[in-house]
Amino acid sequence: MDIRSPSKGYEEFYDRARDRGVNFIRGRVSRIDEDPKTHNMVVHSEDANLGMPIEIEADMVVLATAAIPKKGSADIARIINLSRGADGFFMESHPKLKPMDAPTDGVFYAGACQGLKDIPSSVSQGSGAAARAATVLSKTKWKIEPIISIVDETKCRNKTAKCGVCVSKCPYGAIEAEPNKPAHIITASCHGCGTCVAECPQHAITQMHFTDAQIIAQIRAALEEKPEEKIMAFLCNWCSYAGADLAGISRCEYPPSVRVVRVMCSGRVDKDFILEALRLGAGMVLVGACHLPYDCHYINGNYKMKARTDALKGMLIKLGMSPERFRVEYVSAAEGIRYAEVITEIDADMKALGKEKILAETAKLRPILENMLKRRLSAPASAAKPAA
Ligand code: SF4
Ligand code: SF4
Repeated sequence: MDIRSPSKGYEEFYDRARDRGVNFIRGRVSRIDEDPKTHNMVVHSEDANLGMPIEIEADMVVLATAAIPKKGSADIARIINLSRGADGFFMESHPKLKPMDAPTDGVFYAGACQGLKDIPSSVSQGSGAAARAATVLSKTKWKIEPIISIVDETKCRNKTAKCGVCVSKCPYGAIEAEPNKPAHIITASCHGCGTCVAECPQHAITQMHFTDAQIIAQIRAALEEKPEEKIMAFLCNWCSYAGADLAGISRCEYPPSVRVVRVMCSGRVDKDFILEALRLGAGMVLVGACHLPYDCHYINGNYKMKARTDALKGMLIKLGMSPERFRVEYVSAAEGIRYAEVITEIDADMKALGKEKILAETAKLRPILENMLKRRLSAPASAAKPAA
């Protein structure tokens, strides 16, 4: 059997096992029975190298069962706001840059809580996590990322009527809204996902460095010429944008019709961004996010985006938009090839729809979208004319 063992010393371990008489057979076990006469176990499988079924009689069969996260992991994740991967293990803040850090500041991982590990890896990760914790404890002041959100108290509705939408949407519990007072963001707890900005009905929240005005300016610049031939893509920083980056550095080919706006989290994609792209005549609109259920770097921003865009898409279809013109795709940082495939597929759908149909739909939708966006469009800095 052609085995290559991945970690340091594993190849030697494999060789030693072979020297002591262990035979490795490549194949998939289909069934295990007990022989009624000998009471031995009979393993039915295939030998993939020989390409034929085999039966092996054995005194004992040991199954390598899948490892799963410890019971209670879900509760801990909920209580201290941790992300979990698709397998349910705790997920690091960034696989390469912050492999021991949890998304919640001051929490570090070591050992099998994050995925299966052998003892040397667990020990070295434990030392690393202790060193990371020491960097926090040794400082009297802590610097945070500058992309946090702030509330414009003059616009917040909570002063006069109960609102608190942002409070319920923040994955980190970073927002307080006491009765008859404007909402308040606890700066030290804000991680800058921007979900509250997209959810606030009053447009009272601004995310530093990812303001609505900045993002809308990017949409308008991207769709200045021949918007009906463009795919307007909003990609989350940690998964889909990184996937697009990987597609680039891996030299995957995909159509040049895509124009990308980077947001920190898909939860930041305000429905107005999608409406504005369609108002300006974008051929297709894509929101790229981290995989459901657990991959979101900001715990559950992808779910918040999904709830928002599911409702929006239904409404746009009722208004006459072709369903394929707006889609949400989940692409991880490791899926450069998938990113290229998704863009290729969307581009093919756009060509199949045809410019005439896209232009006709845009002309029909535009007055409705202008009405829906009238607050944005009436703002002096926001006025923009559609291309044609
Ligand atoms: S969602 Fe907006 S209006 Fe409502 S409480 Fe939060 S900041 Fe205020
Ligand atoms: S929703 Fe995101 S951006 Fe808004 S306060 Fe919470 S962490 Fe910060």
